[in-house]
Amino acid sequence: MGPVLGQRKTAPNVLVVGASVPGLSLAHGLRKRGVPVTVYEKREHIAVEERKTLLRVDKWALAGLASCLSADLYDRCLELRNALDDALLTHYDTHLCEVHSVEAAKMSSAPAHTVMDHERLRTILLAGMPDIVRFGHTVTGYRELRDRVGIRFADGGEAHGDLLVLADGRHSAARDAHLGKLELLDTGLVAIHGHAPIERELFTQLPRGFLLHDRPILGPRRTAMTVCAYLPQALSRSAQLGAAGLAGLRGYVKWTSVLPARSELAGYGQAMVHEIVMEQVASWHPAVVQLVTQSVERGLFTAPIQASVPLQPRRSGLATTLGSAARVVPSVGVLTDGLALHDAGRLAVGIHQDERAGIAGHDQRMLDEGNSVVGQALEQIERTFNF
Ligand SMILES: Cc1cc2nc3c(=O)[nH]c(=O)nc-3n(C[C@H](O)[C@H](O)[C@H](O)COP(=O)(O)OP(=O)(O)OC[C@H]3O[C@@H](n4cnc5c(N)ncnc54)[C@H](O)[C@@H]3O)c2cc1C
Repeated sequence: MGPVLGQRKTAPNVLVVGASVPGLSLAHGLRKRGVPVTVYEKREHIAVEERKTLLRVDKWALAGLASCLSADLYDRCLELRNALDDALLTHYDTHLCEVHSVEAAKMSSAPAHTVMDHERLRTILLAGMPDIVRFGHTVTGYRELRDRVGIRFADGGEAHGDLLVLADGRHSAARDAHLGKLELLDTGLVAIHGHAPIERELFTQLPRGFLLHDRPILGPRRTAMTVCAYLPQALSRSAQLGAAGLAGLRGYVKWTSVLPARSELAGYGQAMVHEIVMEQVASWHPAVVQLVTQSVERGLFTAPIQASVPLQPRRSGLATTLGSAARVVPSVGVLTDGLALHDAGRLAVGIHQDERAGIAGHDQRMLDEGNSVVGQALEQIERTFNF
């Protein structure tokens, strides 16, 4: 069955800004339904190297992926899956002794059941789309021209289409200029993210509970760290975990240090940031000290822990936002932003059925659900870290 498209006789031409995981999923979802789409991405390519983030995926995120992807591609994504058994969220003290556990079901109505390496997922989503994703295009703004949208690039060029989806992350320039800035709620905390390559000595010292799960270690004076050991699926399922030869494995241990925000942190280089975390954990369990010592300096990054107030859309029906361009969910805690992938699935269906109504419905859902997701995330941070 062909598309049912508002008053238009042909499918709308959709521009997506940002090759984010939700942006790419949307592009697949549109293409699958015969809607022409082009993605503009500022980076020259997507590297699977520097930052390590794991996406905790819940039933909503999987439903979004299933709606957007072909059966083959969906299966390839599922191969990245590491099943979580996260019935209990265990908290540790700085000597890595268990302090207490909270039932995950009490923290979220849709607890994550699987975890995927973010950049690997993005690489799979990029496969088969070379004609659709245009790298090296930084979008600086957009304008509406009657029933069309035009985006401007940093080099002065332009591209035009019928609909625009900004999936270019929380610092989206086009969103700020034309839809308004995201209003951010500050928790007064800052997160420093880092990772170290996996090594046998480090790995065997960490309690098994840290495998694939972001476990909070509660420190003194409003400080904490979450730690998670990630291994590719095949090995993590193997019975020989402790004894396995880990050399050559492309796994990693990632951590997030949570500290009260200090204004001077923003100006610090990576070496200074590394020193601050070394100081924080100096008297902690030797495995944590080793983890921070061995962390890759260029992989360190600092970000304030903030949440956004959902953005009131400008109801033109031609442009909308997706992912953290629309909603910033704090990047610590056990909640997922699986809704961004779910949103991508519903937006692809909506645009295919009736472009303007599809965008308006998407805006309204993000407003309604955005409030509840952000509220849940803040509550969870408070409960997890006792702040
Ligand atoms: C440390 C950390 C941990 C996280 N953990 C989880 C988790 O466990 N589970 C979960 O579900 N989510 C998690 N998230 C959130 C998750 O990463 C995002 O929700 C998800 O990636 C959605 O993508 P995004 O909208 O943030 O866009 P991003 O991933 O930020 O991607 C935006 C893309 O747009 C491009 N871009 C930016 N500006 C422009 C421009 N002007 N022109 C063209 N292109 C541009 C960027 O290069 C980038 O490729 C985490 C985030 C962080 C930072």
